[in-house]
Amino acid sequence: MTKTESILIIGAGLCGSLLALRLAQLGYTVTLTEKRPDLRQAKLSAGRSINLALSNRGLKGLKMVGLDQEAEELCIPMQGRMLHSKDGTTQLSSYSGRDGEYINSISRTGLNTLLLDKLDTYPNVEIQFNSICTNVDLRQAHASFKHAATHSEYTLQADYIIGTDGAGSVVRKQMEKEKGLLFSHSQEFLTHGYKELTFPPSKEGDFATEKAALHIWPRGENMLIALPNKDKSFTVTLFLAYKGGAFNFENLSTKEKVSDYFKTVYPDAYELMPELTTEFFENPTAPLGTIRCFPWTYGKTLLMGDASHAIVPFYGQGMNASFEDVVEFDKALSEAEFNLDIAFKNFSKHRKPDADAIADLALDNFHEMKSHTAEDIFLQKRKLELQFEKEFPTEYYSKYALVTFREDLPYSTAIRQGRAQDLVIQEMLRKNILKPEMNLREKLNLVREVSQKVEQQQLIFDI
Ligand SMILES: Cc1cc2nc3c(=O)[nH]c(=O)nc-3n(C[C@H](O)[C@H](O)[C@H](O)COP(=O)(O)OP(=O)(O)OC[C@H]3O[C@@H](n4cnc5c(N)ncnc54)[C@H](O)[C@@H]3O)c2cc1C
Repeated sequence: MTKTESILIIGAGLCGSLLALRLAQLGYTVTLTEKRPDLRQAKLSAGRSINLALSNRGLKGLKMVGLDQEAEELCIPMQGRMLHSKDGTTQLSSYSGRDGEYINSISRTGLNTLLLDKLDTYPNVEIQFNSICTNVDLRQAHASFKHAATHSEYTLQADYIIGTDGAGSVVRKQMEKEKGLLFSHSQEFLTHGYKELTFPPSKEGDFATEKAALHIWPRGENMLIALPNKDKSFTVTLFLAYKGGAFNFENLSTKEKVSDYFKTVYPDAYELMPELTTEFFENPTAPLGTIRCFPWTYGKTLLMGDASHAIVPFYGQGMNASFEDVVEFDKALSEAEFNLDIAFKNFSKHRKPDADAIADLALDNFHEMKSHTAEDIFLQKRKLELQFEKEFPTEYYSKYALVTFREDLPYSTAIRQGRAQDLVIQEMLRKNILKPEMNLREKLNLVREVSQKVEQQQLIFDI
């Protein structure tokens, strides 16, 4: 399995660590550099998406390196969305009508630690922490670094470089500067930012609310969500506009205003947050955006993960997509008989439409989660889809299931099929076309028939 090439990976986050592990298993000589200290020794700064939803596509990546079972031990399964209305009533909406389809809450640090610990067992991997990449020669596979503690400057030479340095990628910025590359790139921010808060365990030492669910407080323009942690706390994320509307990050400027806002808008959540006002002012407010760019490769360099396609977090797919990148890159490598130049090009070309699809889906879900989840037509659609999935488990997959549980389908197929179904079911419900006297099989047949026609139309428009 030993390969002669050396690969320098910049960024030891989730994508870079999984990629380093796979390349080490394939026999490459890997150097993995990370600007932060080793997270196994340093405390992660508060407020940086402490936990994440891990689902099938991410698990497929972990399975490829033999870590899926160990990762599952770190997981708390979430069977559905628990919707909290303003009057405190709750409603659980399952993610799927099929048994065994759920998503998982996992600690970012725990998962990254699992990957780094495994990397330590490979003699062909070197990890350098506190190494801030400052510049990359994309054609010569040569990168400059500054040590975060000593400030010493040094360079590293490899045969190839892969930039997995996240949304603010230095490697991508180098591509922007490259004359003749015709590098297209865009960054679109949402008008909303996010802030992380906490539900500590209850006085009895248990979870403060249902642990097997992803909790959502949809409030039209803004929302709150909460995911469980292994220590029985919940990480709570407030998605709120920076400006405009009655409440925003700008005008929630005093402890009293923050308390009043939560008491009025999220009363049941407020009861579970004794440290609300302290956390609100101590934890950072961070922006949310979508980054698209192309090409992802130039010279001896490739971009992967958030560095090439950062997305908003509303489908819980950013990490899952980044792990799927590693699976797709592994496939591209073996198809190219381990010729890295060819694999870089083929991977980028093949993967880009899927990265665009999940970016669009994540934006769709922003609107769906903050408002539509509470609308009657959405609830009726979900009810019908769950019936379809339960009665005809191999014949119907909702858009959510196509994206989240069908790791065998590319995102670009999931978006096409899922959007067509959504459109058709909602229109049929609005126009009362799915009559009560029709049985479930008749309803499914009609939905499928019309959805396929709509999908065909989308195909025509795409061409
Ligand atoms: C609020 C929020 C919630 C989210 N929830 C989910 C979820 O539920 N499910 C999901 O799948 N995804 C989720 N995501 C997305 C997920 O966090 C990202 O998609 C994922 O972390 C991407 O991994 P990455 O390794 O590409 O980038 P990152 O995790 O950002 O890692 C990049 C690494 O590169 C390092 N680095 C950066 N610059 C340099 C440099 N110059 N030199 C050296 N190292 C450098 C960084 O320190 C970091 O360790 C969420 C994101 C946010 C913001």
